[in-house]
Amino acid sequence: MGDKLIPATEAINRLIQELNRLPGIGPKSAQRLAYYLLRAPDEQIKQLTDALLSLKQKTVLCSVCFNVTESDPCAICRNDQRDRATICIVEQPQDVLAMEHTGIYKGLYHVLHGAISPTDGVGAANIRIRELMSRLQNSRVTEVILATNATLEGEQTALYLSRQITPLGIKVTRLARGLPFGTELEYADDVTLTRAIEGRQVF
Ligand SMILES: [Zn+2]
Repeated sequence: MGDKLIPATEAINRLIQELNRLPGIGPKSAQRLAYYLLRAPDEQIKQLTDALLSLKQKTVLCSVCFNVTESDPCAICRNDQRDRATICIVEQPQDVLAMEHTGIYKGLYHVLHGAISPTDGVGAANIRIRELMSRLQNSRVTEVILATNATLEGEQTALYLSRQITPLGIKVTRLARGLPFGTELEYADDVTLTRAIEGRQVF
């Protein structure tokens, strides 16, 4: 027991550091989680480790919409019941979940994996815009819904996309202003998001 304490301290510090790198986890939370895990049953630690490992091993990005999936193309892209004439553009995979959770959207998606942000050095070439444009070329898509976040970066991205897509003769709409400025889609509640989808306007 005695000699187990010293390496454990180093191990705890390492875990605290790793947890602290996660979004929304400050040093205090990281410490609390690390000590919780130290006391947790081996079985729980094993399940957590397995879940973390399979996260990377079993998921890929859909080659069509770039959503996270275990099979390519993803279930949404493969689904015949989805409306193939409408594509909803979101910043992150978790935004697809938020949209799907409302249950009212029946079209397809395109996940950008980011937003244009000159201050962070993220340009149009750094997110999945090129893939989107080649997907839209010669497609039967009639409407693109810009569902980027209601943030400065999200607005900049929407504006850029609208300028690229409108010349293709495709109707470009933007989620309605029901979303307060600064809102990230994944945190919007179902009612607000549903209202924003239904009230979308030509951009
Ligand atoms: Zn897909």
